Amino acid sequence: MPGPWRYCPNCSMPLTTKMEGGRERIACADEDCGFIHFGNFSIGCAGVVIRDGKALIIQRGIEPFRGSWQIPGGYVEADEPILEAVEREVREESGVIAKVRDVVGFRHSVGGSIGGPATNIYLVFRLDYLSGEPSDADSEVMGAGFFTLEEMEAIPGVQGLSKWAIRKAMAADASPGLAPDSLGGPQRPGFSVFGLGGMGFEQA
Ligand SMILES: [Zn+2]
Repeated sequence: MPGPWRYCPNCSMPLTTKMEGGRERIACADEDCGFIHFGNFSIGCAGVVIRDGKALIIQRGIEPFRGSWQIPGGYVEADEPILEAVEREVREESGVIAKVRDVVGFRHSVGGSIGGPATNIYLVFRLDYLSGEPSDADSEVMGAGFFTLEEMEAIPGVQGLSKWAIRKAMAADASPGLAPDSLGGPQRPGFSVFGLGGMGFEQA
């Protein structure tokens, strides 16, 4: 039995199971439809923005973890380029305008390990500050500001992963590691390609 799902979310035919890629998976009984349930996945993004040796963090105004502090971020929409997503989340949650420079790191978490059922990749970017002052005007935010790592130690409930990413971003060399490559990478609508050295590095 295919579990709690009974009907194909694509064509509404009954679901069955099928061997695909070395294991049995929930699949549509209709061969023409071809729907296979590979799993439940989501992508999160967040941004480290540093100004004058201080990093931008926001205080969550919604559950889960209401009241805790973290770098601004959120889910990447299915139809949204990831660079736009992280710059949007930073702007919406803090009022700060910033532009992606490179990737600080990422966390892969298997479904169930961070609460929700989805297997998640959470990508943390380093962004260059452009303009704006931190604001808590967003309804999902209770506070926002630039703080040094020392100041953050005195703030209760700053997320460990955020502090890790801020330490990494502050310690990293100024030259890009894994960065957007809009010149040298494969070009295609909807693609965002990242490579070591960033923009057209191998042609330099
Ligand atoms: Zn179907």
